[in-house]
Amino acid sequence: MLKDTFGRTIDYIRVSVTKQCNFRCQYCMPDTPMDFFDNEEYVPLDNVLAFLKIAIDEGIKKIRITGGEPLLRKDLSEFVAAIHAYAPDVHLALTTNAFLLKRYAKALKEAGLARVNISLDSLKSDRIIKISKKDGLSAILDGIDTAQEVGLKIKLNMVPLKGINDDEIISMLEFAKDRGILLRYIEYMENTHAKLGIKGLKEAQILEILGQKYTPTLLEKENFGPAKIYTLEDDYAFGIIAPHNDDFCKSCNRIRLTSEGTICPCLYYQDSVDAKEAMLSSNPQAMKAALHQSVYNKPEKNQWSEEENPAEISARAFYYTGG
Ligand code: SAM
Ligand code: SF4
Repeated sequence: MLKDTFGRTIDYIRVSVTKQCNFRCQYCMPDTPMDFFDNEEYVPLDNVLAFLKIAIDEGIKKIRITGGEPLLRKDLSEFVAAIHAYAPDVHLALTTNAFLLKRYAKALKEAGLARVNISLDSLKSDRIIKISKKDGLSAILDGIDTAQEVGLKIKLNMVPLKGINDDEIISMLEFAKDRGILLRYIEYMENTHAKLGIKGLKEAQILEILGQKYTPTLLEKENFGPAKIYTLEDDYAFGIIAPHNDDFCKSCNRIRLTSEGTICPCLYYQDSVDAKEAMLSSNPQAMKAALHQSVYNKPEKNQWSEEENPAEISARAFYYTGG
């Protein structure tokens, strides 16, 4: 079992399989040229698999594949199938912008993927273009439909931004409710890679808007997840991920592996453990040692800062650590 120095059991790893993305979301990497990461030095997925087998043997029970945009890796279904074959009880999930999901949903489901979290910030085509620089709404909606058809469980993620999509907080909820999907609003986390000047809505502001039409009731903290779950009068449940709140880190059970073989014990904590050499040389002892070191290094709280001064804003990119 993996336990950190604050008594938290670490049984969840988020694995970024690429930094590359076919979107350029305003809150994530708006100014990055599309071909910027052509020279990305991935650790091959076979080596990532070997590392994950060790992590599973040490107590990891849930793996989320993310990025960048993970569906840009064409061999992803085979990767999922190989993890599933090794450990059928390990929960396998994917976070994606869904632009390519229609093409891969069935193969991923057959490979053993249980759940997909889909980022959807608007139901308006021009807004999606404005937010992500991609004319992607119809492909995203097709992806959602196909994922539901093949039996993948789905959650939707929305990052509400002032003056950009905050007038869709209720319509997004109703879209998800109509499809029986859990929607989670994610508070925007300020970071140096985001577009300057964008402002996110905090939990209280999101609830205030929803309160114009509904009466949300706080139900519980999501089981093993970062969201707080609320219900409406008709029992529809939705979530809010509020990393700005003090108790966010208390129940953290996760570490992160980047596509280049770095293990990050926390989303917003600069220290990390380089496992690349251990992974590339397929050295099981060294991989195990790096895994344990990252758990040992896990800080009590994140070091994220929302200061206006760019020098003080958190520097680690979501597309690097995997969001
Ligand atoms: N490309 C995939 C996607 O967008 O779903 C996976 C990677 S993305 C980095 C993972 C999640 O991080 C997405 O739900 C995205 O909305 C969220 N995210 C990215 N930057 C963020 C920020 N600055 N604040 C809050 N959430 C952010
Ligand atoms: Fe790409 Fe996801 Fe970042 Fe948007 S949030 S730019 S889809 S990695």
